[in-house]
Amino acid sequence: MIRELYFDASSTTRVHPEVVKIMNDVMLKDYGNPSSLHALGDRASKILESARLNVSKVIGAKYGEIYFTSGATESNNLAIIGLACAFPQKKRILISSIEHPSVREVCKHLKSKDYEILEIPVDKDGFVNLEFIEKNIDKNTLVVSVIHGNNIFGTLQNLKKIGDICKAKKVLFHTDASQSFGKTKILVHDWNIDILSASAHKISGPKGVGVLYIDNKLKISPLFYGGGQERGLRSGTENVPGIAGFAKAVQIAINEDWTKTSEVRDYLINKLENLGATLHGSHEKRTPNNIFVSFQNINSEKLLYDLSENGIYVSIGSACDSKKNIEDTALNAIGLTSKEMKSSLRISILPETTKKDADYFVAVLKRLMNRFKS
Ligand code: PMP
Repeated sequence: MIRELYFDASSTTRVHPEVVKIMNDVMLKDYGNPSSLHALGDRASKILESARLNVSKVIGAKYGEIYFTSGATESNNLAIIGLACAFPQKKRILISSIEHPSVREVCKHLKSKDYEILEIPVDKDGFVNLEFIEKNIDKNTLVVSVIHGNNIFGTLQNLKKIGDICKAKKVLFHTDASQSFGKTKILVHDWNIDILSASAHKISGPKGVGVLYIDNKLKISPLFYGGGQERGLRSGTENVPGIAGFAKAVQIAINEDWTKTSEVRDYLINKLENLGATLHGSHEKRTPNNIFVSFQNINSEKLLYDLSENGIYVSIGSACDSKKNIEDTALNAIGLTSKEMKSSLRISILPETTKKDADYFVAVLKRLMNRFKS
């Protein structure tokens, strides 16, 4: 059997066995509908509310500011369309030029409905231009949306600086924290974040569960109407097993040693640079598990399949885009040439990844790259 190495944690992760256990227990024993009045419903409701409390604590939010969704795609859609419906007179939105499609595409849709979408430029490391934000917020601005940890090249924005600008200009601030949630510090109130999206499956939780934090002072409109669950914002019977699993995954994630993960990341970056790779995104401020590099004269799509045949799983660009087109908007925004894009790999590691795994990866990569050259 070949040794398998999973280096695609930014796409998704394996569900942690402790998370599976909790989900299993909820599905088999506490399977009631939280809205039911009997004891089984009450048990499900208690599990749901305890998960809400646990998730709120991780980002310094209040218990009542947490809404569960089906994932970050829904959270991003709900945040932006929910705001647009709640404040219909405000028609300008600022988003970074490196957003995930679940923000970018919603804004593209709103553009077709006469919204003015301004893209905040980034520098070559992927940091947003703060002056642009300051200059372009006007009284017509609905929200500023900036991704926290970029899903392709990992750059972590200084959310506090952006939040402070938005607060001073009295405009709402949304962030998609799917890649950083549970891995890095986030303090929604101290950093003046009004809305935040995240997803369970990036931190060994189940797929199809997400969260939207909304500051208590803010009211947005729902996308679905129905039974009024999640305080009327997200109707539909709650995914209690998934939500309980999410809360457990968050608890596990915050107890991981992400500093150690970033040490393994830097160790591997160093080895890749010795092989001639160029690192993209910020050297200093990136998600603890992300590496995004390009190689000269290598077809990374071919390399990805060769690595896959050898049991090593990586990505080119983001998973959501990689089957369509690797020429990603975010990569254009940080100035990658088309040649660099076609020779780039995203290697996203796990807390359990070791330096030995990194050595093994580099040894296989070296062998495959020599084949390329011959
Ligand atoms: N935002 C970012 C930054 C992501 O990386 C992802 C997952 N690729 C999403 C949103 C979408 O999350 P989900 O799969 O939970 O809908």
